[in-house]
Amino acid sequence: MQEFDPHVLEEKAVPPPAEFSKHARVKSLEEYRKIYERAERDPEGFWGEQAKMLDWFSQPTRVLEWKQPHAKWFVGGKLNVAHNCVDRHVAKHADKPALLWEAEDGSKVRLTYAELQERVCRFANALKSLGVKAGDCVAIYLPMIPELPIAMLGCARIGAVHSVVFGGFSATALADRIADAKSKVLITADGGYRRGKVVPLKDTADAALKNCPTIEKSIVVKRTGEKVAWQEGRDLWWHDIEKAALKDCPAAPFDSEHPLYILYTSGTTGKPKGVLHTSAGYLLQCMWSTRLVFDLRDDDIYWCTADIGWVTGHSYIVYGPLANGATIVMYEGAPDQPRKDRFWEIVERYKVTIFYSSATAVRAFMAWGKEWLDKHDISSLRLLGTVGEPINPAAWKWYYDVIGKNRCPIVDTWWQTETGSILISPLPGATATKPGSATLPMPGIIAKVVNMKNEPVGPGETGYLTIQKPWPSMLRTIYGDDDRYRREYWEKIPGVYFAGDAAQCDKDGYIWVLGRVDDVIKVAGHRLSSMEIESALVSHPSVAEAAVVARPDEIKGEAIVCFVTLRSGHSISGELRVALMEHVSVTIGSIARPADVRFCDILPKTRSGKIMRRLLRELAHKGGISGDTTTLEDMGVIERLAKAQGQEEE
Ligand code: ATP
Ligand code: MG
Repeated sequence: MQEFDPHVLEEKAVPPPAEFSKHARVKSLEEYRKIYERAERDPEGFWGEQAKMLDWFSQPTRVLEWKQPHAKWFVGGKLNVAHNCVDRHVAKHADKPALLWEAEDGSKVRLTYAELQERVCRFANALKSLGVKAGDCVAIYLPMIPELPIAMLGCARIGAVHSVVFGGFSATALADRIADAKSKVLITADGGYRRGKVVPLKDTADAALKNCPTIEKSIVVKRTGEKVAWQEGRDLWWHDIEKAALKDCPAAPFDSEHPLYILYTSGTTGKPKGVLHTSAGYLLQCMWSTRLVFDLRDDDIYWCTADIGWVTGHSYIVYGPLANGATIVMYEGAPDQPRKDRFWEIVERYKVTIFYSSATAVRAFMAWGKEWLDKHDISSLRLLGTVGEPINPAAWKWYYDVIGKNRCPIVDTWWQTETGSILISPLPGATATKPGSATLPMPGIIAKVVNMKNEPVGPGETGYLTIQKPWPSMLRTIYGDDDRYRREYWEKIPGVYFAGDAAQCDKDGYIWVLGRVDDVIKVAGHRLSSMEIESALVSHPSVAEAAVVARPDEIKGEAIVCFVTLRSGHSISGELRVALMEHVSVTIGSIARPADVRFCDILPKTRSGKIMRRLLRELAHKGGISGDTTTLEDMGVIERLAKAQGQEEE
């Protein structure tokens, strides 16, 4: 089939800054290749060697047992995840800060590793006193406060399985997730703060608990002090049970494959799935990738801006950095509270060195304008990261110039809830980057872009992103639905892991993730990715963000419909609409000329910040929405979009 030539993906490589490479853990592409080849030749030997990074109570006897699609990593090994993330660092540097937390109102909490250990142990004992046992599931529905990582580590310490549900979810979404995981205990708060307003978490949690017979106890953190309803016998204050608990809680050994957590994916593609991760392989690959991808050093101040309710927060706020004994920054609230420079104020205050954020956040910073950065000294930054969606080259360059001051490498990290840790990413001292590409697979990861017969497709051809061999932090199953696990990930292309993303691999072996397989648009026999057209739109000076979908077209098969939000200072007009259509057709080719451009104040996104093209597709096609919208961030947006559309068509 005739393939489309992706002009916007022909970006020039940006070599790693020489000063950075000199001190980096991996200093050159040759060095990366050597490690990669070693891992490819003997994956089990390679991972077996890396596993020495962890503290084991009993050494594993076998690295991998693979009966497709089920993997067991580090068989026979015993360890404790909380011991690895906390205790062993206390032995080395008890007074090093583990957590620098800042509330939206500016109040602060600083916890050293010794203090973190005490709080984790007390909370673990408190859970035990409530009858929580290894293997029991604990639901966590908290704002971004220190008790959230403490709760997760407390569970890990006693072998309880946590299921963190993002604090913005509704009562129904929470109840569904509690029921699916059969959680016994819920941990919540009287409320949280978002843009200065109280979010009444306990009210929502109480509404959910009306339909959750498996929950025996509800532990409530006092965060806002607002009056809340109370059910005697079920509800307990966190501070009461923490105070009553003993501060020593020996870390018990658990099997390598002991379940660590269940996490539901964000829902861009439909019904949320409970992704199950286990202990040793997950922790190891998080720890190892944090070290390599972020080039982590002992004196770094590391800030990942994700919410812990998503996998990025699990792997790269909690488990990866803490397993390395790092100092992490955690912020409670919104990036524009009280002003749009809040993030840069935080970077300046804590002298953040590593900043890991999302493509969606970078586009927001770009829309707000660079004047918000000029007020702050952010020269402590040495490395920038992005995740979550393909980053448009224009946004990448803005990140590099305006935030990184042309001195900080950017790691564009591709991974999924299911993969547990970063699988494709530059190594910042070694890999030349190309704006918009996640570049090369990590050592130990055999990533290939293939057709449905698992044959690699050529440069410039769009195919399916696959991982050809199991890896330690892979999901073990979909909780309660092993059939779905097998079907969705291992049978679409038999024998390999099917990521569900469309991608291209260029002549240098660089991987360009183009978005979901479902988001590929077919116009007159050409396959265009939504990302290419969106990137063309975002390269126009008036555009902040764009989402592109297809609607059926009698002649061309599919026609392109663009939803666009504008940067501050630009306004909607008929001329601009035509100019944008023209811009896409000049940038990519007339084949990609949009049939329609619609302006909106905001795009529909998941609560983790990803554009929900599924809903836009429905809107473009049918003029309304009937699909699942429970994971939508702003429920009003669909209504406003539908209205805006109606007005334009009048
Ligand atoms: P659901 O599976 O429920 O639809 P989700 O896929 O959005 O939710 P995540 O696991 O958080 O939930 O996201 C993984 C997806 O995000 C990837 O499959 C990919 O589409 C996209 N993604 C993540 N990082 C990158 C990146 N660096 N470049 C391009 N796409 C990325
Ligand atoms: Mg997904």
